[in-house]
Amino acid sequence: MKLHLVGNDAVYSIEQIALTLFPERTPRYSPEPDSEGDRSVTTLLPGRVETRIVLDGKEAAASCPVAESDGKRGVSYAVRTSFYRAALSFLPEKPLWGSLSGVRPAKACLDAAEGGVESAAAYLVDRYDVSEKKARIAAESACLAVRIRKGLGEKDASLYINVPFCPSKCRYCSFITRAGADPGLLDRYVSALLLELEKLLAEEDFHLISCYVGGGTPAMLSPRELERLLSAVRRIPGADRAELTVELGRPERIDREKLEALSSLGVGKISVNPQALDDRVLALAGRGHSVSDFLRAYALAREYPFSINCDLIALLEGDTPGGFLSGLERLLSLSPDAVSVHALAVKRASALERAEGRGQVAETIGRAAETLRARGYAPYYLYRQKNTADGSENVGWAKPGHASLYNVVMMEEIGTVYGIGAGSVSKIFRNGEMIRRQNTKDPQEYMLRIAEAFSQ
Ligand code: SF4
Repeated sequence: MKLHLVGNDAVYSIEQIALTLFPERTPRYSPEPDSEGDRSVTTLLPGRVETRIVLDGKEAAASCPVAESDGKRGVSYAVRTSFYRAALSFLPEKPLWGSLSGVRPAKACLDAAEGGVESAAAYLVDRYDVSEKKARIAAESACLAVRIRKGLGEKDASLYINVPFCPSKCRYCSFITRAGADPGLLDRYVSALLLELEKLLAEEDFHLISCYVGGGTPAMLSPRELERLLSAVRRIPGADRAELTVELGRPERIDREKLEALSSLGVGKISVNPQALDDRVLALAGRGHSVSDFLRAYALAREYPFSINCDLIALLEGDTPGGFLSGLERLLSLSPDAVSVHALAVKRASALERAEGRGQVAETIGRAAETLRARGYAPYYLYRQKNTADGSENVGWAKPGHASLYNVVMMEEIGTVYGIGAGSVSKIFRNGEMIRRQNTKDPQEYMLRIAEAFSQ
């Protein structure tokens, strides 16, 4: 599908909304107008923006008012909204997230959240045509982010440590993680992390409020490696009171020694991730562990005073809505402190598979939300990925007092997060601006670069 603009240059806005609403038609901006095929033309006119869409020979048009005083942002909004309104003629039903196309729905209503959940939710409904239920999830997350933001000091910062290694690669994985690693490699990787941390502490003056060790599967690290890493973290100013989280990840790598090490190092939160509670689905996903592996790891972890999060993915290959929801019930019977429900990104799926996945995933995620609310969990962070079936969201749910501070700060971009390790991203707030830095993704190259930096 070709997207053409006249009198405006809101390329990003038009591509984002078109990709959200018509992912299977691979929409792309086209500088030249086209008179054939699937296409749209969005024109800035006096007092309004108008979009005409032609799909499969059928045409629809809609507009959105805009004033000169609205500036560039106002034009971008009107471009997106006029496209959305015209697109409604082609969609089987109104999208649950309306015309909101960004990764962070809660961020869109942070200012309105100063007035509370109702005001933030109403803002999303009025401005972006978001459904009431989704608006509420975003509004609750935004209100928590606003409360946290108010309490942040100037030097407060979080730390993310990436461990991009896994025992094997899951079939659906789109992360940079590497399958397998010999023990020597992991030890050298931890040494590189420690050097990068040393460099960071020499260059930046900050007070740690949260640290998240993620991946990948940080449980690939031995107890000794976890100890080396976390002892260094514990020496950062503020660490004694900071939230420390280790996303252990795949359950088959979790054992008592590692849990002992984490507990004695002051780690308060861990993630033990089943993703599904059906052996057939796990095998199809190439997860390399069974439901009983998860149950064993979870029971072991429960012997320690950790706050435990468990990740689930809605409708992995071979799963059904009923199967997923009964898996959720089974998980909730274990009473985890937090549950993250993810929509599977379907980047590699065919257009047909994507189309079939639509609706089903959204409905399943909606029913999971109702179940979690009924069991006392509240949404506290969310994000949307491009190419999830039906543009569905990933939501972190937590019992009162168990929301992850790190996840909120990172997701809503309300404070500095330093990232170390291969593929990690730093977002540093300075003088009202956010500076973004990313490390090289390849672990070998990362280790080489760190070694070079320290030999100079
Ligand atoms: S455990 Fe997660 S990061 Fe590792 S391969 Fe599977 S999906 Fe990818």
